Amino acid sequence: MNNNNYESLKQGAVTNWLKEDTSLYLLKKAILKAIKPFTRQQVDFNNELVSKIIEMDRQLVEAKLEFGLRHKLVEDMVVNLAQRIQIPEIEKAVDEKNIDGGAVAALTATNRTAIDIQQPIVNSDKLMGKLNGRHVVFRFVPTMLCNLRCSYCFLCKEEKQDKATMFDHFTADEWIKAMGNYAEYDVDFYMWGGEPFLLEDTRKIVKGFTEYDHVVYGRIDHNMTMVEKIVRDCPSSKVKINASWHTETYNFEQIVEKAMLLKSKNMIGMLNFVASDASMDYLKKHNLDLNWLINFFAERGIFMNVAGDFSKGNDAAYREFITQYTTNKDWDYIHNVYPSKGVACDAGTSFFTVFHDGSIKSCASDEVVGNFFEGTLKREVRTCPHESCLSLVSYCHQLDNEFSPVKHLDDYVLRNTIHRRKTGILRS
Ligand code: SF4
Ligand code: SF4
Repeated sequence: MNNNNYESLKQGAVTNWLKEDTSLYLLKKAILKAIKPFTRQQVDFNNELVSKIIEMDRQLVEAKLEFGLRHKLVEDMVVNLAQRIQIPEIEKAVDEKNIDGGAVAALTATNRTAIDIQQPIVNSDKLMGKLNGRHVVFRFVPTMLCNLRCSYCFLCKEEKQDKATMFDHFTADEWIKAMGNYAEYDVDFYMWGGEPFLLEDTRKIVKGFTEYDHVVYGRIDHNMTMVEKIVRDCPSSKVKINASWHTETYNFEQIVEKAMLLKSKNMIGMLNFVASDASMDYLKKHNLDLNWLINFFAERGIFMNVAGDFSKGNDAAYREFITQYTTNKDWDYIHNVYPSKGVACDAGTSFFTVFHDGSIKSCASDEVVGNFFEGTLKREVRTCPHESCLSLVSYCHQLDNEFSPVKHLDDYVLRNTIHRRKTGILRS
């Protein structure tokens, strides 16, 4: 591929693909599939072209949100690529109707060029992984307290009685000001608990954080008890709420109303439904069919997740039931089918927990690697020291899968929407 082709790929392709309504998910998957052999060999792929491809990937996820999901074949993408950059292997594959082969040929060719170019995207740096150098995720735990008492709660009694909050040492204004220290990064923040919005100051910092240009995304786990206050006090389409439907607390009509309120501000990442015995009994009692519900919400632009109840473990029949709704691979990561110890992972370069005193650690080591209030952050590629990595915000950082750690919740929704089309759960 010559430089002109590279330029056209870099500058025009994403826009054109969008206009032509090609399959965003499959395109992304093909790109990542092409990159994967290089990540396995741990070749340094911090070069401009790969960084641009990953940037395209980010744009594709964003475009999905803007344009809505489209269901078309990867064939469109391959034909477009073949016409645009005229790689003989692709044209041959298209002639032979070997669509996957064509996609991989196209993208492998772009990677060959990438490896040739060898232009570092960051100075110095040993940074290596799925991401370019600017992306970081900061995880906050405002409080472990919660205002609900779900019978299937995953937290133990001691955790739920921990009264410490992130505002014990620093005020909301101080947290907001400190976020300004990280303007050189594209910051993605994540909040969980307990119930993060139990504290009024959480809404204040969400508002403050999202007003920064460099804060590009935030996922917050929420039990739906404070939706009205969230949309009133900190509305932002950068924030994607992982909205849990606790059937012991809210009925179907109430949850629809709350989900639609979040949707009205483009703030719902997904509606999370844990398929526990209690919640499945609730559906049965109220004559609500799970597949109908999924389609009901999908028609309103809301992805209803069906999460496995952890207490059921890796039971084969339950796995078969849940994987109608989520990919096998997501199930496998969540159930530790791929133990994480020793796996190369981006967590040391881009996924950090910020503790209440401002100290920063990554799950890739025990070391304190920075201080939020001093604006420091040491980033290093590491291998995982833990036996398991069971959360979708974390396992997407492992280098042995193609999941995107950038806007990870959107990526999860995207891949599982496609999966549901394949399993026939989604009507359109
Ligand atoms: S809302 Fe979540 S944290 Fe709170 S009791 Fe229910 S499951 Fe536990
Ligand atoms: S726990 Fe997960 S995200 Fe953290 S280092 Fe291990 S593999 Fe990476």
